[in-house]
Amino acid sequence: MGKVGVDIDHAASIIANGGVVAFPTETVYGLGANALNPNAVAKVFALKERPSFDPLIVHIASVESINLLSSSNDPRVFQLAEKFWPGPLTIVVTKSTIVPGIVTSDLDTVGIRMPSHPIALELIKKSGCVIAAPSANKFGRVSPTRAEHVLKQLPDVDYILDSGKTTVGIESTVVTLDEEGFIILRHGAITHNHLAQVVKPSSARLPKKGLASPGLLKSHYSPSKPLFIASEASKLIDPAKTGYIAFGQKPQGDYKRVEYLSEKADLVEAAAHLFEKIHALEDSDVDYILIDPVPETGIGIAIMDRLRKATFRYR
Ligand code: AMP
Ligand code: MG
Repeated sequence: MGKVGVDIDHAASIIANGGVVAFPTETVYGLGANALNPNAVAKVFALKERPSFDPLIVHIASVESINLLSSSNDPRVFQLAEKFWPGPLTIVVTKSTIVPGIVTSDLDTVGIRMPSHPIALELIKKSGCVIAAPSANKFGRVSPTRAEHVLKQLPDVDYILDSGKTTVGIESTVVTLDEEGFIILRHGAITHNHLAQVVKPSSARLPKKGLASPGLLKSHYSPSKPLFIASEASKLIDPAKTGYIAFGQKPQGDYKRVEYLSEKADLVEAAAHLFEKIHALEDSDVDYILIDPVPETGIGIAIMDRLRKATFRYR
């Protein structure tokens, strides 16, 4: 049997037997293992070369699984779940003793999400497990929005469930709660304004304790080629060697390749194309990648967060 395919039963039995499967979600492809099996979870860290301080998100297919994974009975958790699940929101809550320390980097909290992708939901149900899954890329590299991106970075994974391109295109919003209200730990498609319809925001920017949320690292999502946010200075780079990822208008200059985040300057479309276009230019014959900044409103905040981290090591 090939490494990439559409056999959900096969993928589910790999997970149930302690193996590791890459699978599509609406955000990006995840690298999943049985969250309650520490040996299986260890394989995820090893494959990704992920440092042990970076906790995994546990993916569930029914709201009742919150009670398995968490000792919290904070009604706001259930209000957020009711409104935004299934969907691209991870809720960080106090963990129960059943969750192995390797999943949460020994934090006393666990991030939980119910994805909306039908194949992800079916995989979780058929495996009979809750699935710990970070994005299916090498640590610090660009997240995968296609099965091909996973295969490129993680050829040793047991199986890759292929469902074409993901729709949201960037990782989930990660949110936690203090006494006052919600705190966003990582920006995503569910924005501050969406969350504020259900729960009050906290005045704190970060939780008082237990912050080891690598969504907050300065460098992340880096391609193998130098990537710069387009500015007056970056226009000194030779266009004949450069791929340009534009938002809205066509760039001025004779660039070797031009791709679009969104020709009509739509932020949701731009998020869906962000990692997709970076992968495309990473795999092309250009030496440098330039990308337009986007307005920091709505999902644009999450896009600029990813771009600043992706360009950090080239500044
Ligand atoms: P990934 O989806 O691969 O980007 O990784 C999951 C991210 O979720 C981590 O890097 C953290 O930023 C965040 N996360 C997961 N669990 C927790 C937790 N218990 N507390 C804070 N952040 C978390
Ligand atoms: Mg990741």
